[in-house]
Amino acid sequence: MTIFSKIIAGEIPSYKVAEDDKFYAFLDINPVNWGHTLVVPKQEVDYIFDIDDDQLADMIVFAKKVATAMKKAIPCRKIGVTVLGLEVPHAHIHLVPLQKEGDMDFKHKIDNPDPEKMKKIAADIAANL
Ligand code: AMP
Repeated sequence: MTIFSKIIAGEIPSYKVAEDDKFYAFLDINPVNWGHTLVVPKQEVDYIFDIDDDQLADMIVFAKKVATAMKKAIPCRKIGVTVLGLEVPHAHIHLVPLQKEGDMDFKHKIDNPDPEKMKKIAADIAANL
């Protein structure tokens, strides 16, 4: 079971943003920018392009809903989209609020993000779904 499956199962806490029967969205615990959100399929698949076409299309549409809510909740120009997957072997899309290109720099993460601030951001995004 991957760490993200444990999060989806509620065995590990997360700052949940959104969920449906197939996907789960939650804040990245080491955000590159405030509001950095991960979208994951409930089905455990490591590499995103191993996901079958219909499921992948649904995942993008789910990510779009989350990104639309993020853009309403967080002042930003756009929501950036990235897939890395080098750390956690459970496919996920990174959604990051952007004011400038450097806001998507994975070498610079926010150290020890304040839990209360994270909780509020997750709630603000969820309220805009
Ligand atoms: P990557 O697999 O390279 O896309 O990176 C995995 C991402 O998952 C990183 O940005 C981590 O900060 C994030 N991450 C790892 N564990 C957790 C967790 N328990 N809760 C939220 N985000 C996590």
